[in-house]
Amino acid sequence: MSDRLKGKRAFVTAAAVGIGRACAVAFAREGATVFATDIDEAKLAALKNEGVAEIAKLDVRDSAAVAAVARRAGRADILLNAAGFVHHGTVLECSDEDWNFSFDLNVKSMHRTIKAFLPAMLEAGHGSIVNISSAAGVFKAAPNRYVYGATKAAVAALTRSVATDFITKGVRCNCICPGTIETPSMLQRAATAGPGGRDMFVARQPMGRLGTAEEIASLAVYLASDESSFTTGVAHIIDGGWTL
Ligand code: NAD
Repeated sequence: MSDRLKGKRAFVTAAAVGIGRACAVAFAREGATVFATDIDEAKLAALKNEGVAEIAKLDVRDSAAVAAVARRAGRADILLNAAGFVHHGTVLECSDEDWNFSFDLNVKSMHRTIKAFLPAMLEAGHGSIVNISSAAGVFKAAPNRYVYGATKAAVAALTRSVATDFITKGVRCNCICPGTIETPSMLQRAATAGPGGRDMFVARQPMGRLGTAEEIASLAVYLASDESSFTTGVAHIIDGGWTL
């Protein structure tokens, strides 16, 4: 621990596993008081052993629940939005329901949390919002990622809008665009591709390996901290060279 986030309060969504979890743990290790949320209460509970101060069940698709948990959490200096779902398919496999679900979970969830936490950030005169977008959709088109790519591009646009609107108020907003990161849902996607599924994902990686959630968390710590104080509105790619 090097106290890079000492004295800061952080709120994290989708923190039970994967990138959200790694960010919550890294923030706590760097001295932040972390409020971690997810729909999976059982997995969230383990975060109590990782220095996370508070946990709460939160479905980011529920506007009233987001507003209520934000009131409970109080002021946050850092908001990390990690919730997201990968729909598999082209435009032809994307029903209206699939489209609405993906945009609700991947994009509108961020609209909800930002709306809930921004007023107190503005009052405090500072804040750092970090949204998890994706290299797919923002920097590269990936096959069968039709609506997923569209949602992640929307996240990058939403990020720039928030950054621009509050640039003089001390609030920064950046997004992270990971490549292929080894997380529970990523491994599930690999498994559904058949026996050699994981190897197939590894084969398209120039570094010959998948990324780790901790590597994404390192960038999130930088963006959350005052070390990145001159950086806002940027889509930060971290993909092991996938888009080179
Ligand atoms: P994951 O998909 O393995 O886990 C997601 C977490 O989100 C789970 O804990 C789940 O319970 C939670 N969740 C699902 N629906 C929710 C809801 N309605 N409200 C609150 N929480 C909910 O995690 P991951 O792969 O680390 O993905 C995290 C983010 O990173 C997502 O936005 C994803 O799109 C993005 N991302 C992931 C990769 C990758 O390769 N893993 C690459 C680029 C971007």
